Order: sequence, then C-alpha cells, then structure tokens
Amino acid sequence: MGATAIKRRPSQRVLVGRVLLGGGAPVVVQSMTNTDTADAEATTRQVYELAEAGSELVRITVNTPEAAAAVPQIRARLDSMGCNVPLIGDFHYNGHRLLTEFPECAQALAKYRINPGNVGRNRVDEDPFAVMIATAVRCDKPVRIGVNWGSLDQNLVVRMMDENSRLAEPKDVREVTRAALIASALQSAQRAEQLGLAHDRIVLSCKVSEVQDLIAVYRALALQCDYALHLGLTEAGMGSKGIVASTAALAVLLQEGIGDTIRISLTPEPGGSRTQEVVVAQEILQTMGLRAFAPMVTACPGCGRTSSTVFQELAQSIQAHLRSRMPVWRERYDGVEEMTVAVMGCVVNGPGESKMANIGISLPGTGENPAAPVYIDGEKAMTLRGDNIAAEFTRIVDEYVERKYVRKGASS
Ligand code: SF4
Repeated sequence: MGATAIKRRPSQRVLVGRVLLGGGAPVVVQSMTNTDTADAEATTRQVYELAEAGSELVRITVNTPEAAAAVPQIRARLDSMGCNVPLIGDFHYNGHRLLTEFPECAQALAKYRINPGNVGRNRVDEDPFAVMIATAVRCDKPVRIGVNWGSLDQNLVVRMMDENSRLAEPKDVREVTRAALIASALQSAQRAEQLGLAHDRIVLSCKVSEVQDLIAVYRALALQCDYALHLGLTEAGMGSKGIVASTAALAVLLQEGIGDTIRISLTPEPGGSRTQEVVVAQEILQTMGLRAFAPMVTACPGCGRTSSTVFQELAQSIQAHLRSRMPVWRERYDGVEEMTVAVMGCVVNGPGESKMANIGISLPGTGENPAAPVYIDGEKAMTLRGDNIAAEFTRIVDEYVERKYVRKGASS
C-alpha cells in the first residue's frame, strides 16, 4: 500500500532529535507516559514500551526537581537499551526554573513543550517564557507551543471578550474562545522568534476536547501560519468514546492535509496498556492510507452463519501475533508492515476477501464442511482441519513473511 495522495499543507520542517516533523514528512506518531518521571526505572520502562509499540516521539512530564534530575538518567538508560526515541519534556508553571537548575535535563530532552497559558506571564520579577526560550536557543532545541482550552491565557481571553462586546454584532463566546486559542499560539510563537528561536524550531498545537472545536481551530490555524502542527483531541476520554472522538476529529483534518504529528489522548482502562494510544494513532494513519506500521487483519463481523467463536479468537490472536512480531520484523524485512491478512467466518465472503489479502483463511460457518481453506497471494494454497488451525495458520503467516519480504541488507 502506497501513501494515499492527500495534498499536505505546506508546513515548516522541524527536526526533533533524529525525527523530522512537517515539510511534507510522514505524519509522526507520538505518545506520553503516565508514570512519575522521578521514578526513572518505571518511566524508562514505559518509554521503552511506547517506543517498541511504534511511538516515534515520547513526551514525559517534568514537574519537580526530582523529575528533572531523573531525565538524564532516563535518557542514559534508554540509550543503553538501544532505544533512541527522542524525549519531549512537558513543562508547566516551573519549567523555567527546572530547565535552569537542571542543565543536564535541558540537554537530554529533544524538545520542550511550553503551555503559554500557565507559564507564569504575570510575574514582575521574572519572565518564565523568555527564560525557557533562551534555554531552547542555547541548547538548540525545538519548542512546541502547546495551547490548551483548559488552561488558556485568561488575560488574553478577557481582553478579546471585551473587544468582542464592543462590536456592533458581537460573535458568540465559543467563537471568541476559539480565536483566543489561535491568538495565544501565534502571539507566543511570534514572541519566541523575537527572543531568538528560529522559525524552524517551533511546533504549534491548540488542543480542545470537542471534535467540532478542534476541526474549526486547526482549519483556521493552518490558514494563518506555516508552523508544523501537532494534532490531538485533549482529554479524549476512555475506551471507544476516546477512540471514536479522536478519530472523527483527526481524520477530517488529516484528510485536508493538516497535521504533522499526532497524539491520541486516551484515558487507559484500569490495568490497560498505555501503548493503546500508539496503536490507535497508527491505525488512524494506516486505515487512511497515510502510513503503514503493522500488517492489518481484515475480519468479518460474524453473523448467524457462524455460531462458534473460533474465527473471532483467530482474528484476535493473529492481530496480536502480528503486532508482537513487528519490533523484530521491521528490522529484518522490507514492506512487511503493508501485508494484509484476512480472517473470515464462512464461505459467503471468506474466499473472496481471503483472495484479496496477501494471506487469508476462510473458516467454516455453521453446517459447513469443517475445513478452512488458506489463500496466499490470491490462490488457494492449502486446507487446514482439526483443532490446531490457529497455530498452523500463524506458522503459515510467519513462513510467508520470511519468504515474501526481502531481508534488509540481504543480497539478492
Ligand atoms: S463472511 Fe460469513 S460469517 Fe462473516 S459476516 Fe459474512 S456471512 Fe457472516
């Protein structure tokens, strides 16, 4: 599967560590930890898991001196594990002090996220925003100016509301708030440039929690600047609601070519893996045809023609198997992430869908002959029977990968 020809908005390229954002580069997946950053061991473990799942940038909160002190340790541990994923520091309120007092933290991070709404603008004794930008310039780090609906600069909102109230036909409050989000981001970016941060070291985001607000804000933001844009629906929520809301918002914007990096802000289910947000981000991009990360399984929904759970279990286990193999496969094989696998429940659509996939299996529906034909590259290759179909099909898929996808660096 090639990348779908969506005309991307021309945006400024920004290098974050070794990862390129914007300038037409593929949309980058990022994620954020939920461990206490001061716990270097737990945070290293979670960053590693997120990176293994495919997160290309990982953000960690840097909220206390202990957290700032842990950042270089986390970086060193990851490096020793062979994990070079760039780390982004998320700063609020005290970022200027932490970056100043912990220069090794400032160096170890690949990018700083600054929220202009709570950076401490009203202080007369210090200028926290200027201090953070000066650190970014000195350490040659890019900055994401990340405005958030929930922590919008209240001085700016009040001023814009006042101006609006004096208009002959005032706009509604929601519209003014959307405009304030954009103004906060753009004014902060302008100030950062005045303070010496290069245009190509700035990424912008304006996160909100409602789908229509996000679409409206980013459409307007994209028209007003060429900064690389980070997309995400903030506080998307839990489970299917969070996934659906994020997908609805991001799909519209991505289809319009808006967005250079995405994060899905899912609330994990109790005991659920943090890596789910990475999987969802990848699946949005892959199902839209923008990027390929891991082989995708096509499975039918099942119906009254298949009364057993065998095909559901096989679809689930083969998808999990494919994902679990990807850290190894992506190092060894070219193009394996574009493989398609079909797992179908009966003869009605089973053979047809299986033939369209690289490899597919059509399981027997209720009352059918208990045999499962396997199709490889559109041709019926064998028929599986008995209680061991799942293991045999998994082995066939593994062998297909070894055979089909050229080993990286292997001579032909
Ligand atoms: S392929 Fe068969 S089992 Fe699956 S949804 Fe279609 S008719 Fe039902």
